[in-house]
Amino acid sequence: MPVQNSAKMTVKFVNAVRNYHMIQKEIDAAYRDVMESGEYIARRHLSSFEENLAKFVGTKYAVGLNSGYDALHMSLRAAGVGRGDEVIVPAHTFVATCSAVVNAGAEPVLVDVGKDFNIDISKIEEAITPRTKAIIPVHLSGYMADMPAVMKIAEKHKLAVVEDACQSLGSSINGRGAGSWGLTGCWSFYPFKILGGYGDGGAITTNDPEVADFARRMRYNGEDRHTGEYHGHGFTCLLDNLQAAFLDVKLRHLPAWIKFRKALAQRYRDALSDLPDLLLPHYDRAGFDHIYQNYTLRSKQGSDFSDYLKANGIEVLTQFRKPYYRHEALKLKDRGFPETEALSREVCSLPMNVEITDEEVAYVIKTVRAFYKK
Ligand SMILES: *Cc1c(COP(=O)(O)O)cnc(C)c1O
Repeated sequence: MPVQNSAKMTVKFVNAVRNYHMIQKEIDAAYRDVMESGEYIARRHLSSFEENLAKFVGTKYAVGLNSGYDALHMSLRAAGVGRGDEVIVPAHTFVATCSAVVNAGAEPVLVDVGKDFNIDISKIEEAITPRTKAIIPVHLSGYMADMPAVMKIAEKHKLAVVEDACQSLGSSINGRGAGSWGLTGCWSFYPFKILGGYGDGGAITTNDPEVADFARRMRYNGEDRHTGEYHGHGFTCLLDNLQAAFLDVKLRHLPAWIKFRKALAQRYRDALSDLPDLLLPHYDRAGFDHIYQNYTLRSKQGSDFSDYLKANGIEVLTQFRKPYYRHEALKLKDRGFPETEALSREVCSLPMNVEITDEEVAYVIKTVRAFYKK
């Protein structure tokens, strides 16, 4: 039932080109600066970005890596996770959280999530065994997992905590930033992320100097660049100097961009909260900030709802209709995750970006309401 509507428009989920045009002068200047200097690997643009990222997150160190996946993988290795160990991960997350555990040689143990899409604190302890070595809380969509509770459980059971903060740069609980609670915080600069580069990129943040050193060496084939000594069989997974220069520019805009996202989320809330079949992502929990990397709502009408938006030109994400543990080739144990199953049928992320126009937002709202004929 497409809207019979002459003013049909297209609304992108993220409009990367429009975003580039918003900051084109600064990005082009950064490009020229790198190109004219011939500095491509681990030079001043990278260290500048690392310094600014650490400051932004509230940690002593940041180490630029190739991707969010590499950040997770490196963190698990830094925590000494390997064969025979178990690591707790949420059943609802991007698959990379889990794959990092498997590729580190350990076994992922999945735990269901709660209404806020983050790991269900009340179900963590029943998943802990004598082999459990670490836990990866994921801060999904811009809203942090309950870190005070996670840290308490981790302390009690002597588990390392690796924060998958890939979707929550700039979020916090009681003023303490995502990515500054655990042994490391893991970041992704994939183009769709709140701080997106023009290609892949990632980083870890940490307060532990040994972890920072470990990551700096392992990203560079295990080599200590000052002494030339190899400290282990490493990888090649540095954040490119050029990407770092771009990200440094965008990081300066991030505080204003987060404000814009919060205002947009509020606009969706004001316009849609009377629709009883929609569950909107507002939790109003004291001290918990939400920076709206994604505006993921739940619709009782599931794919009928998301297909209707798509048919009317609105790009939405439905991550994930098929939970990752149900992909057979991954050989994961489905211990029964009712909340993940339920939300998987219902999730729909509306366009949420800083490039969107007023008219586009109005069109998204109008189309959602048209589906419910209100
Ligand atoms: C994007 C993302 C990752 C992986 O990041 P890449 O840079 O694509 O490797 C991991 N976890 C979560 C929750 C993510 O959203």
